[in-house]
Amino acid sequence: MSAVDSALLQVRGLKVHYRNVQAVHGVDLDVREGEVVAVLGANGAGKSSIIKSLMGLVPCTGEVQFAGAPLAGTSAKRVEAGLAYVPEGRRVFGDLSVEDNLRMGGYIVRDANEVKRRLDGVYELFTRLGERRLQLAATLSGGEQQMLALGRALMRQPRLLLLDEPSLGLAPIMVQMVYRLIERIAAGGMTILLSEQSAHIALKLASRAYVLETGGVAFSGAAAELQSNPALREAYLGSVPS
Ligand code: ATP
Repeated sequence: MSAVDSALLQVRGLKVHYRNVQAVHGVDLDVREGEVVAVLGANGAGKSSIIKSLMGLVPCTGEVQFAGAPLAGTSAKRVEAGLAYVPEGRRVFGDLSVEDNLRMGGYIVRDANEVKRRLDGVYELFTRLGERRLQLAATLSGGEQQMLALGRALMRQPRLLLLDEPSLGLAPIMVQMVYRLIERIAAGGMTILLSEQSAHIALKLASRAYVLETGGVAFSGAAAELQSNPALREAYLGSVPS
């Protein structure tokens, strides 16, 4: 079986267009089971548009296969199919407690014992959330809100986790903490596709990367190659620290 045949997510010729802007021009992308794949690129390159199109949130054309079947329909259908999405800017429910936010993530689970088991799993991974389970989400720090958004997505036990710019707007120390947590999630076997402007941090975690330039793939390959090859770094990422 070829690598492409075994891809959990297979995207072919993806185009995203808004009213008068073509944001993504025919992107091909694969994510295999257990992989962490990064979509990199500057501001406005089309990273969020790709992630949002996979969740059915923006109009697009092209072929998307997930776990061997076409991925289509509403966001709710895609969640049922096994996707979970953490949007840029987190968007937790500020006037709900940490625990209620997490329960919202587990809304598709009917069995109360299973919900409890998943909550315990999230609190084990994110001890800070466990300490703050009754706190209103709006009063959490940015990094804690990012943890909560991740925890809410994990409540679904997805087959593929989509993360849109998890470092955005966070202090450097919080970025490191959030990435350490994502690393732990990945070490547990989770398949992850993440978009990130901070290439140096995403490349430490990802095994493969796609670099977007104005809506098209300018480079795709091993993250280690992109990180270690100065010419590639210079060409595609500007002067990114190694
Ligand atoms: P950033 O890191 O700034 O979020 P990005 O790489 O995620 O950038 P996108 O948000 O996907 O880029 O945007 C790609 C292009 O599509 C940009 O030119 C942007 O202005 C445009 N765009 C994004 N959303 C919309 C929208 N809702 N309506 C019209 N144009 C949009």
